[in-house]
Amino acid sequence: MIADALPKVAGKLTCNAPLAPLVWFKAGGAADWLFEPKDLADLQHFVRDIDPSMPVMALGLGSNMIVRDGGVPGVVVRLGKPFAKAQPVDGVTLDCGGGASGILVSSTARDNGVAGLEFLRSIPGTVGGFVRMNGGAYGGEVRDILVDCDVLLRSGELVTLDAADLDYSYRHSELPEGAIVVSARFRGREGKPADIQSEMDRISAAREESQPLRSKTGGSTFRNPEGQKAWQLVDAAGCRGIKIGGAQVSEKHTNFLINTGNATSADIEGLGEEVRRRVRDTSGVELEWEIQRVGVYAGAPRDGVGVYAGAPRDGVGVYAGAPQDAVGVYAGAPQEQVGRK
Ligand SMILES: Cc1cc2nc3c(=O)[nH]c(=O)nc-3n(C[C@H](O)[C@H](O)[C@H](O)COP(=O)(O)OP(=O)(O)OC[C@H]3O[C@@H](n4cnc5c(N)ncnc54)[C@H](O)[C@@H]3O)c2cc1C
Repeated sequence: MIADALPKVAGKLTCNAPLAPLVWFKAGGAADWLFEPKDLADLQHFVRDIDPSMPVMALGLGSNMIVRDGGVPGVVVRLGKPFAKAQPVDGVTLDCGGGASGILVSSTARDNGVAGLEFLRSIPGTVGGFVRMNGGAYGGEVRDILVDCDVLLRSGELVTLDAADLDYSYRHSELPEGAIVVSARFRGREGKPADIQSEMDRISAAREESQPLRSKTGGSTFRNPEGQKAWQLVDAAGCRGIKIGGAQVSEKHTNFLINTGNATSADIEGLGEEVRRRVRDTSGVELEWEIQRVGVYAGAPRDGVGVYAGAPRDGVGVYAGAPQDAVGVYAGAPQEQVGRK
């Protein structure tokens, strides 16, 4: 689609925009369009006026995302600075923009004596991603602190959803397809800034010790199955350190995949599938992806019309016929490189 066919915008609209620099894995293809709105009115006007068949996907800091090598058809919306705000509304509640980082939200909470939001300090994402993913760590999760959020639906309608409307479960919400969280209210409890800071320090230190934070990664790859730890199942299946191409199962934390330098997203996703296969074979447990895998495989057709119906939410934009149940390594993944380092 040419730019003239799209609504005029006040923000930045980029055609064929590489997404690899915008996601933690530093791999994957381009978005047909990347839209960075100037403000909410700009975003609402754009989403309402584009062709209703055009897919829209929100992107935060890309800390829980594999962007497939064929890129993302349609529009990717990155909220960025105009939505990176956090401010107190009363003694225990913060009003946060959808693009605000966990660091900004938790620091603002500390400065205003609001305890209970410390865990957000350690999750490297944005408010939109936290709300969508029910982000959590060290005993806290978003469903415990979310009061409500303002969400722009794919139709262009702006609605306020209560936490209960999102039907939260572990690292999952029922946020509607194509919806964009533009702001959220988080409620904590009264606390002393010094105590809040020490809790943030404790969480940061614990994380530093256990996770490959300076790597190109996507955080926890698989959801913890009920009563079990994904990392233990992966370790027991002998997957610590195994590689496909430039992708590797972290030696430090076996539920993390890392891009050791030049991995393609096919390497990373293929490695995740290999891990799932080995865990299934050794323990009988079917691991579920926590990382969002978005876009189309390299070489997939890009005409896009009608290919999204029925695609699962964790596979936004996959084309008809793609292996949506994610069993097996897909064509093109260099399987011969699987093995211990
Ligand atoms: C080193 C590391 C450690 C991590 N540790 C944790 C942890 O302890 N706990 C935890 O829960 N997660 C953890 N993660 C994963 C990740 O940080 C969280 O899932 C986070 O919530 C993702 O936020 P994001 O803004 O980067 O979202 P993205 O990765 O950009 O997107 C994730 C999903 O959210 C959607 N999304 C993003 N923004 C919006 C929006 N404004 N509106 C609607 N949907 C949106 C995307 O479309 C996508 O479906 C970790 C990741 C890394 C790299």
